Amino acid sequence: MDYKIALIPGDGIGPEIVREAKKILDKVCLIYGHSFTYKELLLGGASIDRHGVPLTDETIADAKASDAVLMGSIGGDAKTSPWYQLEPSRRPEAGLLGIRKALNLFANLRPAYLYEELKAACPLKEERIGAGFDMIIVRELTGGLYFGKRETAEKDGVMTAVDTLTYNENEIRRIAVKAFDIAMKRRKKVTSVDKANVLDSSRLWRKVVEEVAKDYPQVTLEHMLVDNCAMQLVHNPGQFDVILTENMFGDILSDEASMVTGSIGMLSSASLNETKFGLYEPSHGSAPDIAGKGIANPIATILSVAMLLRYSLDLDKEADAVEDAVRQVLKDGYRTVDIMSGGCMQVGTVQMGDLIAERIR
Ligand code: NAD
Repeated sequence: MDYKIALIPGDGIGPEIVREAKKILDKVCLIYGHSFTYKELLLGGASIDRHGVPLTDETIADAKASDAVLMGSIGGDAKTSPWYQLEPSRRPEAGLLGIRKALNLFANLRPAYLYEELKAACPLKEERIGAGFDMIIVRELTGGLYFGKRETAEKDGVMTAVDTLTYNENEIRRIAVKAFDIAMKRRKKVTSVDKANVLDSSRLWRKVVEEVAKDYPQVTLEHMLVDNCAMQLVHNPGQFDVILTENMFGDILSDEASMVTGSIGMLSSASLNETKFGLYEPSHGSAPDIAGKGIANPIATILSVAMLLRYSLDLDKEADAVEDAVRQVLKDGYRTVDIMSGGCMQVGTVQMGDLIAERIR
């Protein structure tokens, strides 16, 4: 099949890691007989340098015309980069928020997977880790408390701040459908996280999720209160498959889950809209402190390629092949500096990309 992939190298280590991710896509093409047409787009600091703004209409149009977007990361060192002398709406991060909005990316996916070989980086005790864990957090990204009406004003002589948490049934339904669709590609369990003992929005959330679950009889649904979920993530992370939750709970829980894996250079993410289209990127930032040194870990971006293949192109076999190649490279003892441990062989960004590409079968 022929697919159009938009590439956003971005800033800092972005271009270095996207180059390696493209190498992986090219290898998938070669082995599985697909054809990918790439278009490089500017976003963030790279766009400011060329066009004076972090996001242009051209970048939005080109992204929309593609089947999926693969991004590195954007942004620079806030203390030293001239980009941060600009007003907030013209800084690199405004470009990222702008493109997510323009593409209507309402579903954020963050996997947290513990590689046997990187167990030492996991801050949990051996007995908590058990047989390891492999979960994905599906977070609603465009509604809830972060997008509700807000106000700070003096009321009866007292400064008072109000934030509003609103969800309608359509917003809940579309994110729930995503979570159940994803569960169908995995171990078929959804844990829906809310605060239904207190919040009206959570009670509506629970009701709609239960309605959606009826269309997925093979998927087991359980509900969990967010405070309990925060505890369970460090108590018994192996119990989770797909965690479905609203914007703010997901913001907090996805960071907690990623810390439990212990390796920032390994964490991929995806943001999807109502079609198969998505934007795929590592969970980490542009790491300006190591940019240009050739030592950045490209694995988070390469695992984002696996997500792109699975969720936007429905190429599950190819996605498995990429994930297997990453596992094999770790098993063979190769590490970038951020995940280095005794007895392993340290490699740079390009070599890590080559080693993974070689192992794609
Ligand atoms: P960061 O994730 O870029 O870096 C944190 C630490 O982790 C640094 O020491 C860095 O060297 C290391 N690190 C990160 N990715 C790595 C990799 N692949 N391999 C090896 N080491 C890696 O976070 P930060 O320093 O807070 O942010 C730097 C810039 O990135 C800022 O401008 C921030 O706004 C931006 N940022 C962008 C995104 C995005 O594009 N989605 C996300 C987060 C931060």
